[in-house]
This record gives sequence, C-alpha cells and structure tokens, in this order.
Amino acid sequence: MYVTSSPTFISLEEDASVYLNFMKGHRCYDAIPVSCKLVIFDTTLKVKTAFFALVANGLRAAPLWDSKLQRFVGMLTITDFINILHCYYKSPLVQMYGLESHKIETWRAQRRRGADSHLFSPMTSFIFSFSFCSLFDAIYSLLRYKIHRLPVIDPESGNVLHILTHKRILKFLHIFREKLPTPGFIRRPIQELGIGTFSNIATVQLTSTLYDALSIFVERRVSALPVVDGHGKVVALYSRFDVINLAAQKTYNNLDMTMQEAVHRRTCYVEGVIKCYPHETLETILDRIVKAEVHRLVLVDSADMVKGIISLSDLLQAMVLTPAGIDALLS
Ligand code: ADP
Ligand code: ADP
Ligand code: AMP
Repeated sequence: MYVTSSPTFISLEEDASVYLNFMKGHRCYDAIPVSCKLVIFDTTLKVKTAFFALVANGLRAAPLWDSKLQRFVGMLTITDFINILHCYYKSPLVQMYGLESHKIETWRAQRRRGADSHLFSPMTSFIFSFSFCSLFDAIYSLLRYKIHRLPVIDPESGNVLHILTHKRILKFLHIFREKLPTPGFIRRPIQELGIGTFSNIATVQLTSTLYDALSIFVERRVSALPVVDGHGKVVALYSRFDVINLAAQKTYNNLDMTMQEAVHRRTCYVEGVIKCYPHETLETILDRIVKAEVHRLVLVDSADMVKGIISLSDLLQAMVLTPAGIDALLS
C-alpha cells in the first residue's frame, strides 16, 4: 500500500522506518561537530573543584579518568552535583563538609555503599560508544541507561572525541531532514500519536524551596520541573542544568530560597516557557524543540495548565526505537 507524502512516494512500512534507517546509516563520528571543548577529570580531583571547572569551561559534563586503573570509569554531570547538594545540605549556616572536602573517588565510593544508594544512579561503569558505532546504537544506549551524556571513543587511541547528547543527534537529523522522504505520521497531532508523558507529571510550586526541587530531581529522576503558580499554571521551567548556576554564583549554601528566587537568579537560561499544545503536529514540535535548543517542551492546555512533557527521549523513542520494535525503554 502506498501513501502520498511530499516530497516523495513511500510505502507505509518505509514511512515508519525513515528515521530508523537514517540513524542506522550514520555513525557517531558523523554527528560530532568539527570543533568542541572537552574536559576530563582525574578521580582524585576534589568534587568542588571539578564542578567549578565545569562552570569555568561552560560545560555540562566530563568523563572521569582513574589513573590507577588507567581507564575511564564514569561521568561527572550536573545530576551528580544535585545528588551531592541534596545529600549534604543541612541549612545555610552549616558548611557542607562532603562538598568542600571529598574527592570524586571518595564520593563515588560512598555513593555505591550508601544506604540511600537506590536513589542515585545505579551506574558504576562507564557507558560509551565507539566512533564507528551507528547513531541507532547511541540512541539505544542513551535511552536504555536513562543517561543524557554518551562519550564517543576513538577505537585506535582510546581517547574521548566528543560527548553525544539527544540534542546533538536530533539536530544532526534536522540538518538532513530536507533530503529525507517526509513520513506521513509527522503531520499528525502529537495527542493522536501519544508521544510523551501525560500523567503523574513532576512539577514544583513557585513557593516551594529549591531544596524541595532537588528532592524531586533525586527521587523522580526527571530532567526538569515545570514551575507552577497557586492555580497550577506553568510560569517557568527549572531544569537540572539550571542547578549549575548555584556553583557559578556560589549560592549553593542557600537551598532554602524559594523557587521564585531560584528562577530569577538564573543567569543563563531560555526566556519564557517553551510549550506545545495537544493539537500541534509532530512536525511543528520537532521544529520548535530543535530551534529552541531545549531538551523538552511542556504540553499545556489553553489555560496553561500542565498536561504533559515531550522530551527528546520521547521523540527518539517514537521515531527510532519503536519502529525497530524496541518499545517502552522510558517506562
Ligand atoms: P545530566 O542530565 O545531569 O547531564 P545524566 O542523566 O546523563 O546527567 O546522568 C545521570 C547519572 O548517570 C549521573 O550520576 C552521571 O554521572 C551518570 N552518567 C551519565 N552518563 C554516563 C555514562 N556515559 N557512563 C556512566 N555514567 C553516566
Ligand atoms: P541540557 O542541554 O543540559 O539538556 P536543558 O535543555 O534541560 O539542558 O536546559 C537548558 C536551559 O534551557 C535551561 O536554562 C533550562 O531552564 C532551559 N529550558 C529547557 N527546556 C525549557 C523549556 N521547555 N522552556 C523554557 N526553558 C527551558
Ligand atoms: P528526559 O530525562 O527528559 O530525557 O525524559 C525521560 C522520560 O521522563 C520521558 O518519558 C519524559 O517524558 C519523562 N519526563 C521528563 N520530565 C518529566 C516530569 N517533570 N514529569 C514526568 N515525566 C517527565
């Protein structure tokens, strides 16, 4: 059976596989930018120094090198900063000894042993992709392990060439989109396609404290929280990335501040909330999310009440993994 879909004719089976085939046909190497900055931390470095170094270099994550083992052992991301703050914070008057004095290796060992280790990432190994692996393999790893940073390794030197993200992969697809057949399903409303999360959305009130927000990040493991007012209307978005502002401004000693204050204190953020509506097509949503360079859109109704989250993970699951018969890695 054939359907008309500009600019070319494609079968329904091909229709579902356009993006899957694209990802299988390109290597991780192909999606790496020509030039990028990469920082690697030795695990003997102090955690505080490491987070300041991320801020100073405008980076979100770094691979961890164990010089005794002579290999990469993991990643340090903003989620780790959140876990550390959440673990050690008592009040603005009490210094966080763990943050001030721990080495990365001490924190990682403690996290593995800790009674609340179930709250933290179960990952003790280093998840990576070789540069010759397909983008399909990279997407599978990102979604399977529920991580947002995938180092790409040069098989000959063993060096990390780049850290791939959902954002980079979708942007790479977007660059080629004009050259690919347009599958019919991208013209359908997002509500009909059922792409995203529509129940049990984790949100935070404007009047809640920043510590409350960190607790939700730790317990629900979500990447961002719509910030809502007393009527449940979304008024801002606070993502895990925004927590790095606390290191940049050295304000991590005051997690009792309200979300209203935390939202206003951000220096590097996207203006307003990037939203979408249930009747909008997948095509519109793809264009918006790529253009805005954000990891998710907040699905709202006409009164700005939060109805769902459509994240890059949901889009890659639906456009690439589901057509390959790999379902529900996100549940
Ligand atoms: P963020 O969204 O803050 O950038 P992630 O979701 O990628 O962070 O990280 C979640 C947890 O998984 C963190 O503890 C991080 O150190 C760990 N992690 C992230 N990427 C990898 C990886 N490639 N290998 C091993 N651990 C990782
Ligand atoms: P990352 O590149 O680490 O995935 P995010 O996309 O989560 O980062 O966040 C980058 C910045 O964009 C943050 O300041 C965050 O608050 C903002 N942001 C992310 N998603 C949205 C959104 N839907 N609406 C408004 N701002 C957003
Ligand atoms: P992400 O970590 O953003 O890549 O998303 C992983 C999964 O969590 C996706 O299915 C998202 O829709 C979902 N998700 C992201 N943020 C939230 C949230 N605040 N509440 C509920 N689910 C979310």
